[in-house]
Amino acid sequence: MAKDISRRNFLRGGLAAAAGVAASPIILPTAAQAASGRELCTLLDLSKCIGCEECVSACREQWQPTVPDPVSPMPRPFPAKVPVQDWSGRKDVSDRLTPYNFLYVEHLDVPHKGQEIELHVPRRCMHCLNPPCADLCPFGAGRVENNGVVHIDPEVCLGGAKCKTVCPWKIPQRQSGVGIYLDIMPELAGNGVMFKCHRCLPLVEKGQQPRCVEVCPEQVQSIGPREQILAQAEALARAKATEDGASPDKWQDYVYGLTENGGTTTIYVSPMPFAAVAAAIEQNHAASAQPGRGRAARAKQGGRKKKRGFGGRPPMGPVEDVMAKADNLSLALVLAPVAGLAAGFTRLFGKKFKADDGDSKGEAA
Ligand code: SF4
Ligand code: SF4
Ligand code: SF4
Repeated sequence: MAKDISRRNFLRGGLAAAAGVAASPIILPTAAQAASGRELCTLLDLSKCIGCEECVSACREQWQPTVPDPVSPMPRPFPAKVPVQDWSGRKDVSDRLTPYNFLYVEHLDVPHKGQEIELHVPRRCMHCLNPPCADLCPFGAGRVENNGVVHIDPEVCLGGAKCKTVCPWKIPQRQSGVGIYLDIMPELAGNGVMFKCHRCLPLVEKGQQPRCVEVCPEQVQSIGPREQILAQAEALARAKATEDGASPDKWQDYVYGLTENGGTTTIYVSPMPFAAVAAAIEQNHAASAQPGRGRAARAKQGGRKKKRGFGGRPPMGPVEDVMAKADNLSLALVLAPVAGLAAGFTRLFGKKFKADDGDSKGEAA
C-alpha cells in the first residue's frame, strides 16, 4: 500500500525544516493522511459479543511470535530512572494489554435501569484519526497508513514511551531489552520497543481481514471505509436507543470512538449509554485492585499518588482531542525536525531489527 508521504520524504522534510530551509508551515504527515478520507474503520456491535475471547487467542497466535524476547542481561535503561519493563516471562497474560498481547476483553456487569446487564468489550488501539502517539513521537517511529492504521516502527522505536504518555488510553506497552537501541548505544539511549495493535497491517495490505474480525463466531466486528461504517453505526445506535426506551436522537450516547480524541477509526455501539459502560469499567478496575497491593490500592489508601497508566486496561470515558490543544500542536511542530533527524540517525546507524526466528518479527508493531 503506497504511502502519501514516504519515510524518505518525511526524513527530507524533517532535515529541511531543521536546517531552516522550509519557510512554509510544516504539514504533519498524519494530519495530511487523515484528511485523505480513505481510512478503514471497524465497527463493534457490543450487543453481539459473547466474551469467548476467540479474537484474543487469534491475535496472540498471529502476532505474539513476532515480538522478540529480550537480550540477557539487559542493558541498564537510560535515563536510569526509567523502569525496565519485561513481559517476556508473562506471555500468558491475556486480561490486559501487554507487549505480547494487543487485545483483551473487558467482562462487565453493567447496572442499567435496575438490572445488571452482562457486556463484553474487546479493547485495543483505537487507531485515531489524528494520533498523538504518532505525531508526538520524538524519534518519528509512529506511522499512519493511508488506510488509517496507526503503528509503531520497531526499526525506529527506542522505547521512550512518549506515545504511551500522550495516548489518552495509554495503549502502547513497552518491552525492554529488545530493538534497535541495542545496536546503537544501549547505555546512552533507549529502553526497548513500544508495541500495540497494528490492525493486522501485514494482512490488511494483502487484502485480508484482521484476525480478530475474521475469527469472531458472532460477527461482532465489521470493517470498511469510515464514512460507510459511520452510517452503519448511526443506524445501529438509533435502533439501540429506541430499544432502550430513549429518543433515537440520543443515538450518539450509544456510540464510542466517534468524537473521542478528535475521532477514531474504531467505533463501538452499545445497548446502553456509554456513560453506564464507562462507570462499570471504572468499578471493575477498582474492584480488581486488591487491598494493600498495587498503585491503585495504595492511592485509595492515601499512599503514593496513583499514576494514570490504567495498568493496560483503558477506561472508556469522554476523551478530549489531544492534538487540538495548541501547546501540543506547537510541540509537534517543534518535534517534526527532530523526528526527521532521528529517523535519519537510525537509518544511518541502525541495523535491521533482528529477530530470533526470521523476517516476520520486524513487523511486530
Ligand atoms: S468479539 Fe467475537 S471473538 Fe471476541 S470475545 Fe466477542 S464474540 Fe468472542
Ligand atoms: S488509541 Fe492511543 S495508541 Fe492508538 S492511535 Fe490513538 S493515540 Fe495512538
Ligand atoms: S486488528 Fe489484528 S493486531 Fe489488532 S487486535 Fe485485532 S488481531 Fe490483534
